[in-house]
Amino acid sequence: MESIKNKIDQLRKKILKYEYFYHKLDQPIVSDAEYDYLLSQLYSLELKNKQFITSDSPTQRIGSNLIDKFKKSVHFFPMLSLDNAFNLKGYLEFETRIKKLVSNSVVNYCCELKIDGIAVSLIYERGILTRASTRGDGYVGENITKNVYTIKSIPLILKGSKIPDRLEVRGEVFMLKSDFKSLNQTNKSNKEKFFSNPRNAAAGSLRQIDSKVTAARNLMFFAHGYGFFKGMEFIKTHYDRLMKLLEWGIPVNKNIFITSSYLEIFNFYKKFEKKRFFIDFDIDGIVIKVNSIELQKKIGFNAKHPRWAIAFKFSSKEIITRLNKVKFQVGRTGIITPVAYFDPIYISGVKIRKASLYNKNEIEKFQLCINDFVIVRRCGDVIPKIIRIIKNKSDNNSKKIIFPLFCPICGSKLLEDEKEKIVRCNSGLLCTAQKEKSLHHFFSKNALFINGLGPKIISKLIKKNLVNSPIDFFYLKKDDLKKIDKIGDKKSTKIISTIDQSRNTSLRNFIYALGIFSVGERIAEKLSERYESMDALIHSTLIELENIDGIGKIIAFNIFNYFSISKNRVLVIKLLKEIRFSVNRTKQKKYKKKFFIGKKIVLTGKFVSFSRSEIKNILIEFGAKILNKVSKSTDLLIYGENFGSKFFQARQLKIHMINEEELKIFLI
Ligand code: NAD
Repeated sequence: MESIKNKIDQLRKKILKYEYFYHKLDQPIVSDAEYDYLLSQLYSLELKNKQFITSDSPTQRIGSNLIDKFKKSVHFFPMLSLDNAFNLKGYLEFETRIKKLVSNSVVNYCCELKIDGIAVSLIYERGILTRASTRGDGYVGENITKNVYTIKSIPLILKGSKIPDRLEVRGEVFMLKSDFKSLNQTNKSNKEKFFSNPRNAAAGSLRQIDSKVTAARNLMFFAHGYGFFKGMEFIKTHYDRLMKLLEWGIPVNKNIFITSSYLEIFNFYKKFEKKRFFIDFDIDGIVIKVNSIELQKKIGFNAKHPRWAIAFKFSSKEIITRLNKVKFQVGRTGIITPVAYFDPIYISGVKIRKASLYNKNEIEKFQLCINDFVIVRRCGDVIPKIIRIIKNKSDNNSKKIIFPLFCPICGSKLLEDEKEKIVRCNSGLLCTAQKEKSLHHFFSKNALFINGLGPKIISKLIKKNLVNSPIDFFYLKKDDLKKIDKIGDKKSTKIISTIDQSRNTSLRNFIYALGIFSVGERIAEKLSERYESMDALIHSTLIELENIDGIGKIIAFNIFNYFSISKNRVLVIKLLKEIRFSVNRTKQKKYKKKFFIGKKIVLTGKFVSFSRSEIKNILIEFGAKILNKVSKSTDLLIYGENFGSKFFQARQLKIHMINEEELKIFLI
């Protein structure tokens, strides 16, 4: 028992510390996912051990932001938080609770967006804004009237008729994502405070002693409720009251609808879960409220939330899961990469069960153990990455991860490069893993692409001793391929014909195919621009290579070293006899447009009619430069579906932008 009490105390201490940084300092030190996870642990411990619940537990009261620099405002009615649901099941449990409380009568719900900002209360006396406060601890907030006066979207005087003598509007002050980015950019150049997200930037801007600072920050406001509505009580639904606020000139977000169907609510949720990335302000879910004011009164509140409303939150980009095992993979250059396998999770609708741990250092840095809880994020919404560990010191199942001393594939002793911080198997083509991967790389999409020649076929060809190096593929016969299971006459003819087609390639693709350590597509591109033939590249000097823009000493050395090994030179010379560097004239004619020459172009989002690498290759052929980041010197941004932050940065910097349809007009 004592240990459960201790666990509860420890959790509360941690949560209160995180709340202090989040609410008081507007500078969270952990992600919302981690905070929500700890709070849910506390909830379930308290539920099982009700004797330990105290009124000051974070489960019983609202995280407060009260600081001394502002005068206090006592709320006339408590300003509460919202209960949460994180999935449809959680939402349906809310509906079941409501149905019980209203004796199963049909309930209409008002669905709204959950704006991720700062809750404020605005009091209008005879239509004039007289007081504005933060939510504080729900009972007492901070008086921020002077600062709120500077927010342009909040009317100082209401317009229209039948304005109540006293009106308390409640809503959210927030900052546009584009304004947040430019604020951080300006702050960075002036060496001022960096904000971690638009919500914290809005909170920091609103709670300023000098209201001139607030005025300069371009804050916005949407109303989503009211404290009192004196004299207008005959307006009997939440929706109609919001519409009335709109008539009086108070901004209300237009994405609202009324329904009694949970399926429609779920569709609204799903629609905005996707759409949120295209909206210029953060939303972290939707809010569903019982629409009838009479029913709201009947259903009531608890100490922390109204019982008649719930926030149905979007799944976080960060999720906590348990690490099950670490496997060690051998890359095509012999580097050993630890890969973490965890209990499957879903982020943005995608199932994820593993993430690269990159190198030995990463394990040591995190002091990672099997059975630890880890926070996983999809970086750039694509690549899963472990970003933090939540250590469970009392967990006896925790097992240390031991980095192997011998290659898991060929068994040879691994060598550690202290300088590069990597562990490597140096057996080269004698190690099957390296042979398989380098051959697969050689014939992969942006190299000498052979459609239909996947890793499984390559592995079988190696096992049957039919291939050992890339050159062997050009001598393969139909009958050789037919020795592999599931490859019949038709498939072998197709593979032989694609092998033949792969002989027509570009210098860039050929350099990339060689798989020289640290030479990716971008460096291959630079080398093909600098050296117009393979012969010139083979005979390049170290100084020459180092002087190519974007190629540092280490990469130059790797290239030079590759061509100084005679067996590599022999391979390249043999391969050159089999391939032709040709340019597809018809394609070139079709696509080539002067418009792109010398343009610095950035791509964002998903494209439907072309793959990203196709667009890149075409534009590079037209003389454009493809860059990863948007800056003032970017000439053009091409955006597809589900575009990311680059879109907003480009818009902010007023950079010319075209979408995929417009791109097609240029190309076709
Ligand atoms: P909340 O953010 O879950 O939501 C409640 C608030 O939503 C309301 O007070 C209201 O102002 C706002 N809201 C936005 N749109 C609304 C709408 N249409 N209708 C009604 N209300 C609307 O709860 P909270 O109490 O403000 O904050 C708790 C959350 O803050 C946690 O779940 C966590 O994600 C985050 N938090 C993070 C840390 C951290 O360290 N990262 C610390 C503390 C809290």
